[in-house]
Amino acid sequence: MASEFEARLRAVSLRVTRPRLAVLAALHDHAHVDTDTVIALVRAELPRVSHQAVYDVLRALTDAGLVRRIEPAGTSARYEARVGDNHHHVVCRSCGAIADVDCAVGHAPCLTASDDQGFMIDEAEVVYWGTCPDCATRRIDQ
Ligand SMILES: [Zn+2]
Ligand SMILES: [Zn+2]
Repeated sequence: MASEFEARLRAVSLRVTRPRLAVLAALHDHAHVDTDTVIALVRAELPRVSHQAVYDVLRALTDAGLVRRIEPAGTSARYEARVGDNHHHVVCRSCGAIADVDCAVGHAPCLTASDDQGFMIDEAEVVYWGTCPDCATRRIDQ
């Protein structure tokens, strides 16, 4: 797997560094995690990495398109390694759990605007809000 992450970094002309590899590996195993979780996961492997170093890596990987940053309203920024497929997210209003939802159409912008106002629209940001199975079960139990 490490060599696959090295190839991804090289493909976007980013230098291969251990923190970058560790962040990619963490996001490959854990989707939609916040910055603190990424830091904890990376430090489990590289104990001496600073917060700032992880922030910098996340920014570089996001700018390069290897990592996607999402920020549903009312939550902190989350990161994931699943990029380039225009998938959407469903967010639990109760506990904040996030899951992937495949693009409804299969390609961006997914939704056709009723009036594009003359804009060339290339993306629609869709967030589905609801109640996750765990929270739904808990509600029934109460
Ligand atoms: Zn929930
Ligand atoms: Zn996702």
